[in-house]
Amino acid sequence: MAEENRTNICRLARQHQEHGTHKMNINKTCCCCGGHAYGKQWWNRDRGYSLCGLCGDWLAKKETPEEMHSNYGKRGVHWDAKLK
Ligand SMILES: [Zn+2]
Repeated sequence: MAEENRTNICRLARQHQEHGTHKMNINKTCCCCGGHAYGKQWWNRDRGYSLCGLCGDWLAKKETPEEMHSNYGKRGVHWDAKLK
């Protein structure tokens, strides 16, 4: 399954390059620390912004899982996603 996901990500990245829509990739800026973050765009986040793992861990101590999901989406998908 992981292999399949990686293949899909590669195929999507190639399609986006071909169509010149580089902004569709999962490279984001962390809305909290301004560092690199990876994830799909979450509707409740500003375009191009996501959350890095470190800030997510920190915020998870202050916010409920419901708030986290509402604000940042799903971990591993919309934030703290891994490219491997
Ligand atoms: Zn951060």
